[in-house]
Amino acid sequence: MTLEAAILEKNDRLAAENRAWLAGREVLAVNLVSSPGAGKTALLERTIRDLGGELSIAVIEGDQSTTRDAERIRNAGARSVQINTGAGCHLEADMVRAALRELRPEPGTLVMIENVGNLVCPAMFDLGEGARVAILSVAEGEDKPIKYPHMFRSCDLMIVTKTDLLPHVDFDLDTCLAHARSVNPDIATLALSSRSGEGLEGWYDWLRAQCANLSAAAFA
Ligand code: MG
Ligand code: ZN
Repeated sequence: MTLEAAILEKNDRLAAENRAWLAGREVLAVNLVSSPGAGKTALLERTIRDLGGELSIAVIEGDQSTTRDAERIRNAGARSVQINTGAGCHLEADMVRAALRELRPEPGTLVMIENVGNLVCPAMFDLGEGARVAILSVAEGEDKPIKYPHMFRSCDLMIVTKTDLLPHVDFDLDTCLAHARSVNPDIATLALSSRSGEGLEGWYDWLRAQCANLSAAAFA
């Protein structure tokens, strides 16, 4: 077995343990992936402010360095644990397992995992999440889904962010959505602006539906 295959096999085993641990506590984990600067933390801040009274939200923040994003999340009103990966460019299941034990989420909690900004290797590392969401801002190229197909194929939902900037950039939303569907016909898509609030209801409805599915499964 190659070293890479051995690392991935070990990660998959730990991810399966995380998934069982989360299911046993009726906790939904959502893995947010994007390139740096797509607006993951801004979307989480806005989500916590808008939905924090309705859903219990906690956050695991992944960055190579600093606790800046975990502090932003706490200022928005949610509990957070920062993981610093040092030279590492993605989160792995064992890091999330340690963070979950520190976070100790109550049953019914929605745990948002903000992955390290990188559209390449986070695609290969299952964290045990219940859903994976790709975030892509209109300030990036609309061809990201076809340039990084492994990532977009592994996601349940793609969110196009910063739609308030659309009048100022050359980004064709329909082309981007078509590219995403060409690599993953099952992917759901949303477009929104954390700044203006446009499109956020669709995201909140998606989160509510994921949480409802989890509690339905627990009572099945
Ligand atoms: Mg961030
Ligand atoms: Zn990596």
